[in-house]
Amino acid sequence: MSGKRQVFSFEEGDGKNKQLLGGKGANLCEMTQFGLNVPPGFVISTEACLDYLANETRQLPDGLMDDVREHMKRVEAATGKGFGDANNPLLVSVRSGSAMSMPGMMDTILNLGLNSETLQGEIEQTGDARFGYDAYRRFIQLFGKVALNVPDELFDAEFEQVKQKAHVTEDVGLSGDDLKEICERFLTVFGNHAGRPFPEDPYDQLEIAIKAVFGSWGGKRAVDYRREFNITPDMANGTAVNVCTMVFGNRGDDSATGVGFTRNPGTGENKLYGEYLVNAQGEDVVAGIRTPKPIDHLSEEMPEMARQLAELREKLETHYKEIQDFEFTIERGILYCLQTRNGKMNAIAMVRTSVEMVEEGLIDKEQALLRIDPAHLEQMLYPRLDPDAKADAVAQGLPASPGAASGRVVFDADRAEIFGKEQGQKVILMREETKPEDIHGFFASEGILTSRGGKTSHAAVVARGMGKPCVAGAEGISVDVQRREAHIGGLVIREGDVVTIDGSSGNVYLGEISMVEPDFTEELNRLLRWADDEAYLRVVANADTGPDATRALKYGAKGIGLCRTERMFNDVDRLPVVIEMIVSETDEQREAALDKLLPMQRADFKAIFEVMSPFPVTIRLLDPPIHEFLPSEQQLLADLEKLHHLRNSVRGMEVLASSMILLHDPDQAKQEAASMRQIVDIDMVEKTLKKKETMLKKVRALTETNPMLGHRGVRLGITFPEIYSMQIRAILEAAAECAAKDLEVHPQIMVPQVCTSEELKKVKETVDRIRTEVEAEFGHKLDFRFGTMIEVVRACMRADTLAEKVEFFSFGTNDLTQATFSFSREDAENKFLPMYNQIGILQDNPFEVLDEKGVGKLMDLAVKWGREKKPDLSVGICGEHGGHPASIAFCHKAGLNYVSCSAPRVPVARLAAAHASLLNRK
Ligand code: ADP
Ligand code: MG
Ligand code: MG
Repeated sequence: MSGKRQVFSFEEGDGKNKQLLGGKGANLCEMTQFGLNVPPGFVISTEACLDYLANETRQLPDGLMDDVREHMKRVEAATGKGFGDANNPLLVSVRSGSAMSMPGMMDTILNLGLNSETLQGEIEQTGDARFGYDAYRRFIQLFGKVALNVPDELFDAEFEQVKQKAHVTEDVGLSGDDLKEICERFLTVFGNHAGRPFPEDPYDQLEIAIKAVFGSWGGKRAVDYRREFNITPDMANGTAVNVCTMVFGNRGDDSATGVGFTRNPGTGENKLYGEYLVNAQGEDVVAGIRTPKPIDHLSEEMPEMARQLAELREKLETHYKEIQDFEFTIERGILYCLQTRNGKMNAIAMVRTSVEMVEEGLIDKEQALLRIDPAHLEQMLYPRLDPDAKADAVAQGLPASPGAASGRVVFDADRAEIFGKEQGQKVILMREETKPEDIHGFFASEGILTSRGGKTSHAAVVARGMGKPCVAGAEGISVDVQRREAHIGGLVIREGDVVTIDGSSGNVYLGEISMVEPDFTEELNRLLRWADDEAYLRVVANADTGPDATRALKYGAKGIGLCRTERMFNDVDRLPVVIEMIVSETDEQREAALDKLLPMQRADFKAIFEVMSPFPVTIRLLDPPIHEFLPSEQQLLADLEKLHHLRNSVRGMEVLASSMILLHDPDQAKQEAASMRQIVDIDMVEKTLKKKETMLKKVRALTETNPMLGHRGVRLGITFPEIYSMQIRAILEAAAECAAKDLEVHPQIMVPQVCTSEELKKVKETVDRIRTEVEAEFGHKLDFRFGTMIEVVRACMRADTLAEKVEFFSFGTNDLTQATFSFSREDAENKFLPMYNQIGILQDNPFEVLDEKGVGKLMDLAVKWGREKKPDLSVGICGEHGGHPASIAFCHKAGLNYVSCSAPRVPVARLAAAHASLLNRK
């Protein structure tokens, strides 16, 4: 392809065009252009890479090598050296880099341009044979390994042999002659395994290297990586090649190399962070051959360099307005910057730096909010590993479900149940991969660890659904279920050994590691207040009790969007009363039970109103099928069997006693029978039996084939009107009592499972009747709203007529998703959804990520039709999706007024709501 520019010098490349120049290349250009000391060089574009890969003959695009020569001339001019010039050789590095940083692509080749002649030139120039041979052996190995797939181990073996021969343990102990011998051996290895002789011509070397970098884009490692992380061509397409003049941090004690973060990536502290090595090359820092020193030391060892580095840090941040992660090299007292990119930090550091950069005037509030991924905040809200607990990960997998957990390892679900449920121990379920039949093991475990599978594997999907930490696909671990052990390299983990997993980082540790509770820092509070100012969507919480509400308030909820009353019924003190109500045979019995429940519910609501005042509290009337409050049929049958047995035994004793009359004296017989009755109160047994039998009848009568689609929600409210009446009265009386104390309260009564406006009409009549009564009793007007959940498909279709009856809609997207897909959530997540995700039939789990195309479409219609009838209709969402950033963005666009989510997700939702506003304003 001719016509388009394929090569750009660092002086002219557009630093903003990462698609064309790759992230590394674009930043090398940008840094050069705003005056940092970058060694001269140029970038070959990603387009050239794609052209090359499209060409089956595997020839570089037309004219590319001509352009490369042209640019090499410029680099020669800038450095005063010559590429291939034996007297003053120019050496370069050849580095890959696409728009997104991704492992799996080609490693960097250093010292390219060395051959037998230039090597001598280099040695004469520097007067340092050791240095020359060291550079040469690095080049031969990297070039062989990276460009021509010569196995690293072959080089390493030769290296070790020479070291042994020379009786040295450290690389630095090798003499120039040793290194010379290593070079010779390396050339032999190269000749035997590279499939071609070592190229002496530097331009041949360069061309081979460029082709290898380009080729690595289409290599298996890179392709797999892109698939796993959903990197699409519009995110990164092709790799650029960066050719950069070599600078040497290993030219003596006035040379060094290191990496730096402009601020601390763990804490966000505004202080240069990093490490360096004196007299070393960059790769030595990464390879961990020598232990680098903390960057603080540089001011003692090289004060002038430390000053310049501080200046470099300043310049980088002022320019990029973002924390930078950079590489530097000092060659004989001159500081070079070799790479920079935006620093990856944990959530705490992101929040702190956002707030501080605004204070410093480096960025504005909008930028501060937008630079943080809302989902990332979740990290701060789960218990996490104590950052001071120093531990090294023994294995790494994918961070599949956030949070950290410690426990004893078990290798199958049954053992997990034995250890976890029966013995009450904390366990981690470790498997190669999980299957639906492992589900009971999930319930019994603190966390899940698998050695195979990705972020959409069964383990990952189910663990996320349950809110348990999960590390998936830790490939370094091999699990041997038979032997009940796992191997990580030479390390053996046996059943019962304690491990810690961190589902937020994917790390696996041996032993128990201390955890810290989530901290809600002052910085996070400030940042989220800025978010609230920007957001259009109000964020409220799902909370069922006073303490829940208090927690929601702490996380910044501006009200309660879903308070489920059934949770209050499950309390130990109340359940008997609730059961009494359900099994009552007559209206009087039922009313007596409800009269007992009324003050309890009123107290519940009052507690929540008091905590949340002056924010609105949405209370959902009873929703689940009532048989859920009763014991199971199985349980009852077992109880009845025991009771019958008991009764029969007592009766038997009585018979026995009375027959004694014939033998002995009748008085004694009477006494025996009486004492028997003293031990077992036979009347009590009979009564209990009767009660249980009635209950069994009731349970059988209430049994449904498909309870989730059965007698629940408003249907229940209509068939047992006393229940809803009691709840409505409890809500309104609680509100009246608060109002009497001058507390501002805004209750919202919400009806579940509505499919027709006739249902709403019925409930509304009850509400109106009770309102009049309560207002008369308390002598003042009540201020509250009446609304419906929208969680039935028909409710969406009839949104116009429903809207006439209510003041608000709240989408219950959990049920609405089930109804739209005709999936039952439990079965879907446990049986076929992971597979659907894996083979791409569904992109996401619709119970986690709102299905915009289907469920979202229904929501759009319902909002539109509802508002056509009632323009000021308030609309919200109270499904789990209300805390998911992408779903929140959708809710914003759909014109909702609020989102409701679990308390710990409120901060995530607040930031996501701000993002939605900011991004839609643009
Ligand atoms: P990576 O993407 O793996 O960091 P790099 O291309 O940045 O790969 O290079 C690997 C190592 O080589 C780094 O330590 C880098 O600083 C060093 N390096 C790359 N180019 C040069 C150069 N021209 N002079 C000196 N060191 C270099
Ligand atoms: Mg690098
Ligand atoms: Mg529901």
